[in-house]
Amino acid sequence: MVAIADGKVGLLVYTLTNGEGEVIDQNTADDPLPYLHGAGNIVPGLEAALTGKSIGDTFEVSVAPEQGYGPHDGRDPLGVPKEHFPPNVAIQAGMHFMAQGEDGQPVIVWVDHVEGEVVFITQNHPLAGVTLNFAVEVVGIRDASDVEREHGHPHGLDGTAGHGHDH
Ligand code: ZN
Repeated sequence: MVAIADGKVGLLVYTLTNGEGEVIDQNTADDPLPYLHGAGNIVPGLEAALTGKSIGDTFEVSVAPEQGYGPHDGRDPLGVPKEHFPPNVAIQAGMHFMAQGEDGQPVIVWVDHVEGEVVFITQNHPLAGVTLNFAVEVVGIRDASDVEREHGHPHGLDGTAGHGHDH
């Protein structure tokens, strides 16, 4: 029996709910999520729970923020004039950008909301501080190709998908 391990691509059908039982994200068997195990494509708590799983396995796992999208730092979003953002991009809540942190290191900033010409940004992922409850079925496992391992992500369900992504 093939088991999920580093260097394998797993195909997942999942439902993600928060602590209140609200569905945050889900997919269907028609559209499984491929991910490369061991490459940090998915949150650490889910990746760890998938280690050793086989095709057909179903399970539920509750992932604390520390093993998910991190704790919320409690800071309010910061307002920034829209002109500081790339032109020709419709800025919307949930988008993220690379910016320079206080120490000059690259950081990801998320758009919390937009008010007129002011964009409110935060370093908290939209799901920071949220306990993530995953219900998962493993619907496929295959070996990653050399190129996929080099890139650190799968190229579609069967590894032959074109490079539509921006990595
Ligand atoms: Zn790639």
